[in-house]
Amino acid sequence: MRCEQVVDDLADLAAGHTEVVAPDHVAHVEHCLRCQAEMVQYRKLLRALRTLRTEVLEPSPGLLADVLAGIEEEAERHAIAGLLRGRRVAYLGGLAAATAAAGGAIVLANHARRRVKLAG
Ligand SMILES: [Zn+2]
Repeated sequence: MRCEQVVDDLADLAAGHTEVVAPDHVAHVEHCLRCQAEMVQYRKLLRALRTLRTEVLEPSPGLLADVLAGIEEEAERHAIAGLLRGRRVAYLGGLAAATAAAGGAIVLANHARRRVKLAG
């Protein structure tokens, strides 16, 4: 038997699924150093994938709390910035109203003075 014939079985053998591989293929791998070396590479790959999977599924205990605190902090910062912006708008609005009122008072005063002049 040639190595090329068992190449597709190496991943299954590396994962321990011997039952899905033809017995003569299993026998070849058991006696072939080249196939065994390739199977070792598959095993390393599987181990790396398993590590990756556990790393993704099991975050460190404080991670969720850190993420939530980060979100909260950012939201607070936005809320404070929003409040400051709102206050500035209110301040400018008040300033505009005061200016308009003062302008109106001046117009009224001039009008009254003109009337006094006309009457006098
Ligand atoms: Zn072989």
